[in-house]
Amino acid sequence: MNKLITRRKFLTTSSCALGAAALEESLFQDAAAQTIEITRIDLNHAWVFQGAGCNVFAIPGINENGVLMIDGGLTAHSDALIGAVLNTFGQDRVHTLVNTHWHPEQTGSNERLGAEGANIIAHEKTRMFLENSVMSSLFDGRYGPLADAGLPTMTLGSSGSFKFAGQEILYGYLPAAHSESDIFLYFPILDTLITGGPVTTGEWPVLDIRHGAWIGGLLRAYETLGQVVSADTTVIPAHGPIISGTDLLRMRAMYTNFHLDLAEQLNLGMGPKDTVKMALLDQYVDDFGDPSLFIDHAHRSLQRAYVPD
Ligand SMILES: [Zn+2]
Repeated sequence: MNKLITRRKFLTTSSCALGAAALEESLFQDAAAQTIEITRIDLNHAWVFQGAGCNVFAIPGINENGVLMIDGGLTAHSDALIGAVLNTFGQDRVHTLVNTHWHPEQTGSNERLGAEGANIIAHEKTRMFLENSVMSSLFDGRYGPLADAGLPTMTLGSSGSFKFAGQEILYGYLPAAHSESDIFLYFPILDTLITGGPVTTGEWPVLDIRHGAWIGGLLRAYETLGQVVSADTTVIPAHGPIISGTDLLRMRAMYTNFHLDLAEQLNLGMGPKDTVKMALLDQYVDDFGDPSLFIDHAHRSLQRAYVPD
């Protein structure tokens, strides 16, 4: 039985802690025992749904005859999530699903929606990982492969745009930031940024170091996203409360300073356990929780980048 370990051990307060509690077959057991609550936030012409395992952004179609959803939550919560989304918009199907990356919390609705005929859009590496059985720093065991119906039908490269409901939607690839398949999406008309996995609020992001992520990639993602936002941009993180562009820039500064501190620790010959003891991020505990796992993974990822084995 697979079991998600990372956030469960170290983070207990966010809506994601519920979603991170289990995976695959164990999810169904947990789902039977739990009543999940899907909550929604009105963003004026768009909604964010929380409680299914990750933040889910959605807008109604105009000529598309169906909804656009960005990320799909965990499989066990998919029915509740999709029911809430369709009720909100009074539409009877999901026309397009976008996966910001391949993790189970984002791709749990793929098989159902794909079988129902939805377009599924994701980075080309997301499709590659979903076609295979993959491991992660996020959970024990393996995830996938998904059934063919759940695989992306349109794959994206490094950057570009596509249209939905008459709106242009810009996207960009964020290499090695949280997984090895992260994209962000930006809606200029709504001035809304969906960050994907590299940005979390209320908890530290997972660096999926078994999947190519490293602290330098995370920092580079913040630099890219920092160029997309203005002060008042609505920023939807992968997990946790919605923030502004100004908040994102503050977080960029936090990670920039942390990266410098980490490099200094590495240069002094410190190991991950020593670095965790340095309490480099303790001033942020109230906002993000215990940083121990994040620091440990960040240190290991930097060590690997500088001293490959
Ligand atoms: Zn993820």
